[in-house]
Amino acid sequence: MKRRYAFLPAAIGWSTAAAALAGAAPPAQRPAISEYDRHVAVAKAAATGVAARLIGLCALPTGGERRPPAFGRERQLIAPQRVFDQLYYVGLANLSAWVIDTGDGLVLIDALNNAGEANEVIVTGMQRLGLDPAKLRYIIVSHGHGDHYGGAATLATRFGARVIASDVDWKLMASPARMNNPAWSPPPARDMTVTDGQTLRVGRTAITFYVTPGHTPGTLSLIFGVNQGAKRHVAAFWGGTAFNFAPTAANFATYAASAKRFGRIAEQAGADVILSNHPTYDNTVANLAILRDGKPADANPYVVGRQATGNFFTVASECAQARQTATQGNEP
Ligand SMILES: [Zn+2]
Repeated sequence: MKRRYAFLPAAIGWSTAAAALAGAAPPAQRPAISEYDRHVAVAKAAATGVAARLIGLCALPTGGERRPPAFGRERQLIAPQRVFDQLYYVGLANLSAWVIDTGDGLVLIDALNNAGEANEVIVTGMQRLGLDPAKLRYIIVSHGHGDHYGGAATLATRFGARVIASDVDWKLMASPARMNNPAWSPPPARDMTVTDGQTLRVGRTAITFYVTPGHTPGTLSLIFGVNQGAKRHVAAFWGGTAFNFAPTAANFATYAASAKRFGRIAEQAGADVILSNHPTYDNTVANLAILRDGKPADANPYVVGRQATGNFFTVASECAQARQTATQGNEP
């Protein structure tokens, strides 16, 4: 979803807030703006490689940023692709769906916008990759927005798969107040609930779930191992990235805390691979092209290393803190 953001000179953001609050405050009383700048500076210092793809989160809104999602957008197709020995991309060029072949069934991470995309993109993609969709056992819904759950119900029905989400986002999906878009199929019926720190073991794969509230109140982020030949890597999947929640200081603080915490979890797990549920954040379009054209011995572009993985969550957390400081004192 494209939003218009711009990096405003910090003083503009502050002077608006200050004018609303206190009129002409003397320069010495400008903590809000210096705090914003300080967090942006930390984010910018960390924003190299894949982490640079998140720096736009720091930008202050220029207005109209809470527009509803674009409806009826054209489906942007991209060839399905094997990414690691057991991990495959079966999503669109602008929306992700990942499948893990555990050796004892398939686990899907996110289900695209609707039944049509699930059947025509995910199922077809699996078949093109030599995966049997009938072996689909679990569908993980990373968070309760329809671009991730929309295709879940049809796949669960067709293949008898179980659907997994957090308790909080099951409630969000069932809520009449949930975000709606005509392009999204209805949410799946409530099924399996996972809690923070729980691990799902299927075949040779273990996926650990973390509840990382922020993007939605019950966003799930994941840690799991992947292989490339003899090499073992650890993937950190960030379950919700954009700041399209109500822009309150409390919501930014919640997001920042989750990003910081999950960054530490990823570090402790030795994560060296960043995965997202939107291709723009993990460089998927470029990475898939490299994997498609490359030789088997080439380095995998998804392996960014531990430092870059840490930086990704530093940028997410620092930008959320920057937006938090720019919001404080500016709320109705
Ligand atoms: Zn979302």
